[in-house]
Amino acid sequence: MPVRLFDAHNHLQDGRLAPFLSDILRQVPALGIACAVVNGSAEDDWEAVAALATEHAWIKPSFGLHPWYVKGRSAGWKDALCSLVERFPNAAIGEIGLDRWIDEPQIESQVEAFRWQLELAAKLNRPVSIHCLKAWGLLDQTLRSTPLPGRAEDRKNVPYHHGCAVARWRDANCLATCTDPRPHARFNRTVPAQFQPASQT
Ligand SMILES: [Zn+2]
Repeated sequence: MPVRLFDAHNHLQDGRLAPFLSDILRQVPALGIACAVVNGSAEDDWEAVAALATEHAWIKPSFGLHPWYVKGRSAGWKDALCSLVERFPNAAIGEIGLDRWIDEPQIESQVEAFRWQLELAAKLNRPVSIHCLKAWGLLDQTLRSTPLPGRAEDRKNVPYHHGCAVARWRDANCLATCTDPRPHARFNRTVPAQFQPASQT
């Protein structure tokens, strides 16, 4: 039986991909990728994600306010997000999360936006896509104290979580230890070579 591949996390709407996008859109289905989740990051790219999902049945849209863009949110961001996820009943919530790596992270605002989006996902029973950098303990704490989608109870239908690619190996393992007993999460611990055990600090 042929393997069905599922790309759980990309940003095809990113302007830097524009020169190559038509080639990518043609090649992805030909590579045997049955479905790809395109993650919106902020209000100004959500409509581009919506357009891609409307044009290509293999694209699963995901809409969320990424922690890097919490500072730039408008007063109406929650309403805009609610109307998009209503328009797209198959949409996930993401990319959302916590990040202390950026300058002036305003972590309290990040936590507030993250919690609100997790609650929205729980209310609508949508999967979530989560970004985390230098905030693993806080992420674990927040996940344990915020309602999560009911689908998390069903291991056949778990939401996917995204352990960011620049997690240090030590942090990624710590997070796995914290969260393994919970049935709701899958972590993509893609750790680049420079952060793997030989270079631990
Ligand atoms: Zn991402």
